[in-house]
Amino acid sequence: MPSSKKPLVIITGASSGIGLATARLFSAHGHPLLLLARRLEKMQALNLPDTLALSVDVTDRAALAAAVQEGENRFGLADALINNAGVMLLGDITRQDPDQWDRMLDVNVKGVLNGVHAVAAGMVQRKRGNIINISSVAGRKTFPNHVAYVGTKFAVHGLSENLREELSAHNVRVTTIAPGAVETELLGHTTDEGIKTGYEAWKAEMGGKVLAAEDVANAIHYAYSQPDGVCVREIVLAATRQQ
Ligand code: NDP
Repeated sequence: MPSSKKPLVIITGASSGIGLATARLFSAHGHPLLLLARRLEKMQALNLPDTLALSVDVTDRAALAAAVQEGENRFGLADALINNAGVMLLGDITRQDPDQWDRMLDVNVKGVLNGVHAVAAGMVQRKRGNIINISSVAGRKTFPNHVAYVGTKFAVHGLSENLREELSAHNVRVTTIAPGAVETELLGHTTDEGIKTGYEAWKAEMGGKVLAAEDVANAIHYAYSQPDGVCVREIVLAATRQQ
């Protein structure tokens, strides 16, 4: 009789926002989880069953690969990696500290590739798996003061589509999720107070009705839960009133 046990799902950036909501949802669907982010206590506080939370910086390729190994040793091979960890440091490109571009490129682009590196060969070998990369509407269109962030998210769209083409013959599905504005901690890391205020005003123009993290988690789970032969390549979702 086949086992009804659900396979392991790995989520990066699971300590807040979209990653945290996604962890709750996949856990409710019975999946064992490997949760990765730097703030261990936030992930442990979720208190989810069959869950290993490890403090990992996704820019540390070796640490990320070791964490995936540890998770798979405990729960079996991963059926999905949700590459969600990201930072958004908005800035006027003529004045922004280039260290902020470095950080976004390291986390949003190299961090995603590090995740791919940790799971892709194993998925190809067993001819099954799902890689779900969280990009943004800012990976399809531009916004004021978003130059470096938009650059990272266009990169996520591009690398994801190429990855999908490379892995499709091996029955590994690759999905890009592109949310509009979501109520999370993301904006809080931007250091330019004027830009932050402007962003809040833009949200207010939508009646304050941006997406909830759970809306994005639902989209991720929808893509994942399609029948084996169906690959949802991209989902773009935003608050109805977002332009
Ligand atoms: P949050 O700031 O709430 O969450 C970001 C997550 O990424 C946190 O768990 C954080 O954990 C983790 N993270 C950041 N840097 C690292 C790192 N170096 N190593 C490991 N984990 C890291 O934001 P969101 O939930 O909104 O963001 C999730 C994704 O969604 C991002 O890729 C973002 O670009 C994307 N997105 C968000 C939108 C929004 O409006 N909120 C819109 C479109 C896309 P910790 O600090 O503990 O390491």
